[in-house]
Amino acid sequence: MRFPALALFVAIAAAPMARADELLDLYKHLHSHPELSFKEVKTSERIAEELRKAGAEVTTCVGKTGVVGVLKNGQGPTVLVRTDLDALPIVEQTGLAFASTVTTTDDEGKSVGVMHACGHDIHMTCFVGTARWLATHRDRWSGTVVFVGQPAEEKIGGAKAMLADGLYTRFPKPDFALAIHVAHDLETGKVAYTRGPAMASSTSMDIVVRGRGGHGAMPQNTVDPIVLAAALVLDLQTIVSREVNPLHPAVVTVGSIHGGSKHNIIPNDVRLQLTIRSYRPDVRAQLIEGIERKSKALADAHKAPAPQVLINDDTPATINTPTFVDRVVPSLKRALGDTNIEVVEPTMGAEDFGLFSTGGVPIFMFRLGTIPPARVAEATTKGETLPSLHSALYHPDAAPSIETGVKAMTAAVIDLLPVK
Ligand SMILES: [Zn+2]
Ligand SMILES: [Zn+2]
Repeated sequence: MRFPALALFVAIAAAPMARADELLDLYKHLHSHPELSFKEVKTSERIAEELRKAGAEVTTCVGKTGVVGVLKNGQGPTVLVRTDLDALPIVEQTGLAFASTVTTTDDEGKSVGVMHACGHDIHMTCFVGTARWLATHRDRWSGTVVFVGQPAEEKIGGAKAMLADGLYTRFPKPDFALAIHVAHDLETGKVAYTRGPAMASSTSMDIVVRGRGGHGAMPQNTVDPIVLAAALVLDLQTIVSREVNPLHPAVVTVGSIHGGSKHNIIPNDVRLQLTIRSYRPDVRAQLIEGIERKSKALADAHKAPAPQVLINDDTPATINTPTFVDRVVPSLKRALGDTNIEVVEPTMGAEDFGLFSTGGVPIFMFRLGTIPPARVAEATTKGETLPSLHSALYHPDAAPSIETGVKAMTAAVIDLLPVK
């Protein structure tokens, strides 16, 4: 493989980014117009428009609200670049001039605020910046780039929906797939990566603990599902601490518990929502079996009706393909400088980008620094924790984050698509 001339990297690294102000305006627009998972209608339209302007052949409504732009430029491999499109049901509290004031109705009919608290607006802006650079420097690369705007990353359903809708059959199947995710604790100007297993598998489960309702003053005539649910929440933790091999990472979190309507009424049921995380498929199966077994056993022990235990969305672990990582990291180092590339540990966070490895496609997602270096240093000195992703207070330092993201992604893509 031939690398583009060093001068190119110097040009990418040193030149003020083409139309940086326009990209910042795009970021602010996306930030102040967030949309929830699978409802990214306007966002998807805007991304489609940007890809068309860059000369890509654009298809919309792929996997509901997904968008695909194919940019062809002669012979060569096919590289997929992915951004996610969706925001979160959070009321923004950053106080930024362009903060979101959007409210909407969620799937359960509740009114919720909407905020890009996971940086997908930064991902989209870097994605558009990369498309613009590649469109205006066609002499610097040869091959095909498939730009994928994926819906519903937060619900872990968008990648599956796009693949089911023919992402790898209706469009050129990629030889490589790349993605960026922002980091809340990494300095602007830097990227970080994990070689191999990087993010955990995630499974959502719903449990309905059933009882027999009645008067709060006469528990002897009822089966109290609130007492059962309380016992179950604690008992579930022993699956991780007493059943799973301690050398194999696992998490069981009950993130939501709802039951009852009034002080003196014992309700009929209590509803729990769980997320479970692991890296190994056998550990995932062990967690699910344990949750089902303990839920049923508890009902039996209390003469309660059988519970309902449902497995909803799930996504496999994201494993950055080691040989592909080894190929891309030198490009990142040349574009940003060796000292701006860090290796980080895997997390129990999850992503559905792992599904882009379907059919053996090598994948690599790297993290993008978004916090001013002085702020990171101050937090470290004071022992403070910076607002995490999904916090109402998270806000990236947009301009340098976008500049670094575009440089990194552009360098990675053109190295994979050398001019013959
Ligand atoms: Zn997120
Ligand atoms: Zn995210």
